Amino acid sequence: MDFSLSEEQQLVADTIGSFAREVLLPKYAHWDRHELFPREQFLAMGDIGLLGLRVSEAHGGQDMDAVTAGVAMEAAARGDFNCCYGILIACFAGEILGCYGDDAVKAEWLPAMVSGEKIICTCLTEPQSGSDVAGIRTRAVRDGDDYIISGEKASITLVMAGDAGIVFAKTDPAAGAKGVTAFLVPFDLPGVSRAPYSDLGSRGIVRGSLFFDEVRVPARYRIGDEGAAFSRVMQTFDYTRALIGLMCLGAAQASLSETVEYLKSRQSFGQPLSRYQGVSFPVADWAAKMEMARWLCFRTLWLRDREMPHTAEAAMCKMQCPDIAVGAIHECLLLHGHYGYTKDYLQEQRLRDVIGQQIADGTTQIQKLIVSREIFGRDFA
Ligand SMILES: Cc1cc2nc3c(=O)[nH]c(=O)nc-3n(C[C@H](O)[C@H](O)[C@H](O)COP(=O)(O)OP(=O)(O)OC[C@H]3O[C@@H](n4cnc5c(N)ncnc54)[C@H](O)[C@@H]3O)c2cc1C
Repeated sequence: MDFSLSEEQQLVADTIGSFAREVLLPKYAHWDRHELFPREQFLAMGDIGLLGLRVSEAHGGQDMDAVTAGVAMEAAARGDFNCCYGILIACFAGEILGCYGDDAVKAEWLPAMVSGEKIICTCLTEPQSGSDVAGIRTRAVRDGDDYIISGEKASITLVMAGDAGIVFAKTDPAAGAKGVTAFLVPFDLPGVSRAPYSDLGSRGIVRGSLFFDEVRVPARYRIGDEGAAFSRVMQTFDYTRALIGLMCLGAAQASLSETVEYLKSRQSFGQPLSRYQGVSFPVADWAAKMEMARWLCFRTLWLRDREMPHTAEAAMCKMQCPDIAVGAIHECLLLHGHYGYTKDYLQEQRLRDVIGQQIADGTTQIQKLIVSREIFGRDFA
C-alpha cells in the first residue's frame, strides 16, 4: 500500500489548489447571488485543463488516470462546488462519447467541450422515473439515416447553458434496460426546447427540463450500439460516484478550514472558542469522518484504474460522502453562531449547494440497494 501522491498528482493538487483559491473561490458567492451562469469560470477551467480530465490528448484532453482526476476534482471543489458540475459532466461525456462515439462526432464536440466553449449535459432522468432508470419513456425510432426522438427529460444540470446532451432513449421499449440507447443531441436541432427550475442551491448552474418533439438526429450521433447504453451508463456512474464524493468532501473541507480559523479568532468568556471541547470535538469528529470518506473515494478510483470491480465501493462513496459533507457544513454553520446564518459567510450557500448531491446521481437509498445487491447477490438482496 502506498498512500502518497505521485509527482504528477502533487503538481495537479498544487496547481488546481491555487486556481481554486485565486480564481474560483472569490466569485463562488457572486454567481449564486446574481443567479448567473459562470461562463468566465468555465473558460478558465477549460484553459487549465479541468474540462478534459478523462478526454484523450488527441481531442485536447488530459487523458488522466481516475485517481489523478479525483485529486483535481477535490482541489477544485474547495473553490467552487458548482463549477465542479462542469468537470463532472465533462468526465461523464468524455468517458461515454470518448469510448463509444463516432470519430467525426468526437472531433466535432470533444475539443470544444474541453476548452469550455461547449457544454454537454447528461440527460437520463424523466418526470416519472429518476431512481428507476430503466423506466424511461423517451423514444428513438430509426428513420432511414436518422433517428426521431420524442419525450421529456427532467432535472438536467446546466440545461440552459448546455449546447448538447447525452440523451438516453428507448429504441426497443419491450426490451426494458436492454432497449436503452444513447445519443448525442445538439440542443439547437428543431424540436428541442427547455425550461429552467428555480432551485434551493446551485442557482447559477440551473437545472431544468428538456423537451424533444420529433427531433431528427443523424444516426452517426448514436453512441455505441442500439440497446447497449444502460450497462455503460451504470459503469460510468461507478466512476462519477467517486468523483461526486470528492466534490462534496472538497466543499466540506473548505468549510472546515474556514471554521477552524474562525474558532481560533472568535472569543467567548475570555478564551478562543477553539479551547472549548464542545466546539473542538465536533470539528474533530467531522474531520475524522471526512478523512475516512476521502480514502474510500481514492481507493474506488484506484480500483477503477486497475480495472478491478468497484461497483459496491462507488455506491458506498455516493451513499456516505454527500451526507458527511452536508453534516459537516451544517456543523460549521452552527459553529459560526448567528453569523453562520447570514450570507456574509459561505456556509449557508455551501449547505444549499451540497444538499443537491444527496439526491442527484442516485439517492442514498438507491446506493444502499446497490451495496446490498453486491453483498447478498441479486437473488437474496
Ligand atoms: C442537484 C441535482 C442535479 C441533477 N442532475 C441531473 C442530471 O444532470 N441529469 C439527470 O439525468 N438527472 C439529474 N438529476 C436527477 C437525479 O438523478 C434524480 O433526481 C435521482 O436519481 C432521484 O430520482 P427522482 O428525483 O425521480 O426520485 P424518485 O425516484 O421518485 O425517488 C423519490 C424518493 O424515493 C426513494 N426511492 C425510490 N425508489 C426507491 C426504492 N426502490 N427503495 C427505497 N427508496 C426508494 C428515493 O431514494 C427518494 O428519496 C439531478 C438531481 C439533482 C437534485
